[in-house]
Amino acid sequence: MPHAHLVKPGTRVRLKDYDTRENGGLDKEAGQARFAELNAELDALQEELHAAGTHSVLMVLQGMDTSGKDGAIRNVMTNLNPQGVRVESFKVPTDEDLAHDFLWRVHKVTPGKGIFGVFNRSHYEDVLVVRVHGLAPEPVWKARYDHINAFESLLADSGTIVLKFFLHISKDEQEQRLHEREKEVGKAWKLSAGDWRERELWDQYQEAYEDALSRCSTEVAPWYIVPADRKWFRNLAISEVLVDTLRGYRDHWRGALEDLSQAKLAELEAYRNLLKETGRQV
Ligand code: AMP
Ligand code: MG
Repeated sequence: MPHAHLVKPGTRVRLKDYDTRENGGLDKEAGQARFAELNAELDALQEELHAAGTHSVLMVLQGMDTSGKDGAIRNVMTNLNPQGVRVESFKVPTDEDLAHDFLWRVHKVTPGKGIFGVFNRSHYEDVLVVRVHGLAPEPVWKARYDHINAFESLLADSGTIVLKFFLHISKDEQEQRLHEREKEVGKAWKLSAGDWRERELWDQYQEAYEDALSRCSTEVAPWYIVPADRKWFRNLAISEVLVDTLRGYRDHWRGALEDLSQAKLAELEAYRNLLKETGRQV
């Protein structure tokens, strides 16, 4: 049983139905051991993704403040070859961004073939923070769900494997994590009074997330709800989905690599034959 919950396309999500503290019946030690195995496999899969160059991966991470987006990136990507990874963090849009359509800044940084791309926040902010704070009129953000689906469908048609993760924490867990940041000097740099202000809008955010997950989970770009109160479980659940999904492409990538190898060998042989025919030496 996978530990992250796939949002079936066309179903209505109610976040209250999902337990944020799930552990999948595992203790932390067993969970971490399984995670290490999956991480090793992910490393091998990424190498094949990179070498074959036929697809790209786009992993989208969303969640409330302190839900563990940074931690997930640090842990899940640990073993990957940095040359094939591209992480993009989406902050408040610049004036130039705002002078364009909301996908302009996003499309530019989507991963090219062979690249494992990670979005730390994403185009979904345009139906989350923008909606909750009324940064755009309602008809404008409401039209964006369809734009997002069309955009992600274009990416998928172009060989991008799109996987989206909502890191689901409880309001209590967030409070605890915000207090921890205050207590530990090493974590205080992450503090922001804004996080406490945003927390007051918790319910509005949950509602906005429910709509985004319900309206934008599609066959080609599914949303997964990740119980994220336990950090080790969050990491495990994410890497499991990544490995499960990428495994499905392994044969294709190996086939592409074999074709590539054959072509290179044939090229070399032709070159050697030419040398022989012309009596040249190297
Ligand atoms: P952090 O992830 O903590 O570095 O914060 C980034 C901030 O940028 C968050 O408060 C986001 O809500 C905000 N942000 C990201 N994208 C947008 C957007 N499209 N419109 C407005 N704010 C955004
Ligand atoms: Mg923050």
